[in-house]
Amino acid sequence: MSDSYSPFLTSSASTDSQEDRIVDAAFHDLLNCYVESNHRKKVEIIEKAYRFAKEAHKGARRRSGEPYILHPIAVARIVVEELGLGSTSICAALLHDVVEDTDYTREDIEMAFGKKIADIVEGVTKISGGIFGDKASVQAENFRKLLLSMSTDIRVILVKMADRLHNMRTLGSMRPEKQYKIAGETLYVYAPLAHRLGLSKIKYELEDLAFKYEHPQKYREIIEKVNETEEHRVAIAREFVAPVKKMLDEAGFKYEIKARVKSAYSIYKKMETKKIPFEEIYDVYAVRVIFDNDDDALEKIKCWQIYTFFTENYKTHPERLRDWISIPKANGYRALHLTAMGPEGKWIEVQIRSRKMDEIAELGYAAHWKYKDGVNEDESELDTWMNTIKDILAHPEPNALDFLDTIKLNLFSSEIYVFTPKGDLLTLPTGATVLDMAFAIHSQLGLHCMAGKISHRLVPLSHKLQSGDQVEIITSNSRNPTPEWVDYCYTAKAKSRIRTYLKKAGNADILSPEELDRIATPESSHEEKRSLVKRLLRNPFSSKKKKGEKKAAPIDRKKVFTLYPDDKEPNYHLESCCSPLPGDDVLGFVNEDEEVVLHKVSCPIAMRLKSAYGSRLVVTRWGGSSSKFPATIELDGIDRRHILEEIVELVSHKFNINIRSMNISTHQDVFHCNMSFFTDTAESVDNLCDNLLNLKGVKFAKRVT
Ligand code: MN
Repeated sequence: MSDSYSPFLTSSASTDSQEDRIVDAAFHDLLNCYVESNHRKKVEIIEKAYRFAKEAHKGARRRSGEPYILHPIAVARIVVEELGLGSTSICAALLHDVVEDTDYTREDIEMAFGKKIADIVEGVTKISGGIFGDKASVQAENFRKLLLSMSTDIRVILVKMADRLHNMRTLGSMRPEKQYKIAGETLYVYAPLAHRLGLSKIKYELEDLAFKYEHPQKYREIIEKVNETEEHRVAIAREFVAPVKKMLDEAGFKYEIKARVKSAYSIYKKMETKKIPFEEIYDVYAVRVIFDNDDDALEKIKCWQIYTFFTENYKTHPERLRDWISIPKANGYRALHLTAMGPEGKWIEVQIRSRKMDEIAELGYAAHWKYKDGVNEDESELDTWMNTIKDILAHPEPNALDFLDTIKLNLFSSEIYVFTPKGDLLTLPTGATVLDMAFAIHSQLGLHCMAGKISHRLVPLSHKLQSGDQVEIITSNSRNPTPEWVDYCYTAKAKSRIRTYLKKAGNADILSPEELDRIATPESSHEEKRSLVKRLLRNPFSSKKKKGEKKAAPIDRKKVFTLYPDDKEPNYHLESCCSPLPGDDVLGFVNEDEEVVLHKVSCPIAMRLKSAYGSRLVVTRWGGSSSKFPATIELDGIDRRHILEEIVELVSHKFNINIRSMNISTHQDVFHCNMSFFTDTAESVDNLCDNLLNLKGVKFAKRVT
């Protein structure tokens, strides 16, 4: 199929800026690649993903200065062109940075594109955000292990691989220290992983790019030598293959012969490990014979036939015959390798492959797509490939030195891999909680554990961990296990430690100061909340003014009191029980400071006040025009006495914000609070959040809408 596809781009009227044209052209090229592939044509969803990503990254730029959206487009193009994947992966690639870098969430993506695409995007986000964050320095070994364990869908790894490849190709515009970090990770993590998945072309490119940034001088030297010797190499190769070509022609083969040079990084590695100069690396020279074949049954025989064309003309190295056709490499690689003595006494490596073997060698199992028509990536084909990969993982090559051979690994493991803030890896059983992790690190940590912190959010002790989570354990010396802790953990170790502690504590005759302290503190935070509410109700008009502060002038209870919500300091107060909005039907009560306190007419507290304190009632009406917009913030923190009171005090009194709604839930020691209100500017919300974070125990405060 070679007809060019015109993408649907007519909806936006102002796309004539040069940048828009560049972006649209890049997407157009991507679509063309897809349309030319053998995949089922699901163009619409790809266009939708493009529009979504373009909108989400609107205005953002890469360090190079180009529009950010060009990056996801390039990643998607690698996904289709170099990995041979289809629409699901293309969409995930287009959207792969949306959750990490923009305000859109996984839920937004799931809503628009379904669960599968959202899962892949989330997986990619988790890999890059959680693990390679600035703080974490994760050992390569751990990362690879994790990468494979958490990716229940292999496409997560493939999209991530494409992302990394594009970042490496554009590494030049990064800051030098970032270049080092990224190049290092690439060499230690991604290149071996690419090799493992049989993506040798990508592996070599990643290695060479990383090498170029890590050792620029050495890289340049090798490239220069390779270039210097090219002419000679081509001449030797031509002379070497001439008699073989004749025999291939006579036997009626359709074929292609490539004179190939080792990659710069492989040359460098060999020079380093063997301590030899460039000139002594014999397999710098390699020749590859790729033949067309349409009968799978004859593939092997043809390889051996071509093999004899070389042995009839040259002396071959007896120890360097590699038969990867009878027993393919674990990553799926199949070919016949031999080394023959060429002109000038130089050993030349020969690789014999069918076209299909060659593509599998270059593209890995992704190449299999190319041999199917109308492939639907989402169905059985992908499962087949996944199973092959799983097989590879379960039966590693015996002699290879790469990572999977030393680790017994299951793709769908009963274990999870979690990280400490410093990047140390812990292996826990699936189902393990924050409390289990605390005990796994150290018993003392477990015994004083209050909560966990994952991606900046607090979670309770019983929170179930997932592979890839990076967890900070929050402790307090005054915190000790209670009987219900046994239900908060999963591992036998944690349960037995807790039981031992409880037994000891129960037998003790004298209470420790901490225990005394705990007895003095209301056990349940629920209870605490209730008493706080009681206190608030008991004294509805209690003065909040400090001694010495002047009372306002008395309010005339007989006149209608006009409320000014838009003023910097509204001339009334709100209680958190009902939080009326401007325009709501409200009742005003005058408190001891001669201030008007508002309640909704429907508020049960207002009803009680009305009957008990009729003389303090004042009729109100709303004045001014409301130009405020609604906002919602979320708070997390460690629960303690008076925390709710302090939050409410800060929000409604210090900031004079009318709380519309407030939801609080506590799990063990952690509380979550969700609060909605009207506000004038976004800055004042940020300012409020900053102030809330200063309250003791508040660990997270952020605007969510
Ligand atoms: Mn990216």
